[in-house]
Amino acid sequence: MQKNQVEEGNVKIVTEIDNDTAFYNPLGKFSRSIFVKIFSAYAMSKGGNLTYAEPFSGSGIKGIRLSVEGGGFSTFIFNDIDEGSLRITKENWKNNVVKGEVIFYNLEANDFFQSLVNKGRVDGLDVDPFGSSSPYIFNAIRAVRGGGLISFTFTDTQVLGGIHSEALEKRYHVKAKKVQFLKELQARIAITNVILEASAINIAAFPVFAHVDKHYIRTYHIIKPKASLSSELVKNIKYITASDCGYTSLEESFYCPYCGKPTDNIGPLYVGNIFNKDLIKKAHELSGDCKGCAELFEIALEENDNIPFYYDTRYLASMLRTTTPSKNILLERLRASGFKSSRTIFCSTGVKTCAPFGIFESMFYVK
Ligand SMILES: [Zn+2]
Repeated sequence: MQKNQVEEGNVKIVTEIDNDTAFYNPLGKFSRSIFVKIFSAYAMSKGGNLTYAEPFSGSGIKGIRLSVEGGGFSTFIFNDIDEGSLRITKENWKNNVVKGEVIFYNLEANDFFQSLVNKGRVDGLDVDPFGSSSPYIFNAIRAVRGGGLISFTFTDTQVLGGIHSEALEKRYHVKAKKVQFLKELQARIAITNVILEASAINIAAFPVFAHVDKHYIRTYHIIKPKASLSSELVKNIKYITASDCGYTSLEESFYCPYCGKPTDNIGPLYVGNIFNKDLIKKAHELSGDCKGCAELFEIALEENDNIPFYYDTRYLASMLRTTTPSKNILLERLRASGFKSSRTIFCSTGVKTCAPFGIFESMFYVK
């Protein structure tokens, strides 16, 4: 008897067979849609016929959706340490209109990565464990071919939010606190973690996309095994200065130049670009059937991702005791004054701008 049938995207899966159950998180539906678009855009741009693997298959929903809805991958490798989950993945693979060859493994994740290394590595790898991907990054990256794509999920959002600062320092070696650009901070802490793990073995893990939800942080990286590129990436790991008044800057200062109070130094944090616009453009072209995906990619395409933080207009308005101005009007004013400015995928009320803080703030009062 089959129970708990789930429909998601263009696939139908079960999460229970007899006494076996497989993990399926309905809250991950949107992130899986984004995953299918990015992995397909990547694989199709590489001419297709690529190999995809996942170490924590659960119900197999991700790889199965990639096979049914996506393109460019012709071999799918599913692994789960739990035999029951693997049985369910096999059943789900069989019962959908899949494309491609399939291989199943029943190994601990790190043993699985090593076996991928032994067999010549893969082009695409998705690491989606319970909690943080951090303990798996080092071994996972080794299992990806040069030029390959790897993605990570982090569901320890509380730790990554700087709310539990001791846990944050212990797990990610970063000092942070709750800031107005919280979601981008979470993404950049995760990205920094990936870059540093890879740099230890002279691999550059270039970030190509990241997005954050209440329940997870997702990061995507293209792997380049070259010491000089890895050094270039690491040079972009710096500190961000933040003050409670809203002042945020890459310039280090002990006291805020606006309110005079001591600042917080947040980092070390990767502050370089995090969006590969060519890849995102291709993913956007594939998003005709996913309005939410298309909208997210549109903002990412326009985003000033060379600025590693955004101002939350709602937060600043409350600090300034004024009403929150329209984001679009603010952006128009900033651009009219010659400051490159954009929306951000990390916050619906967020603005990225190269305008000095004082000038940006003064625009809140223009009627
Ligand atoms: Zn200040």
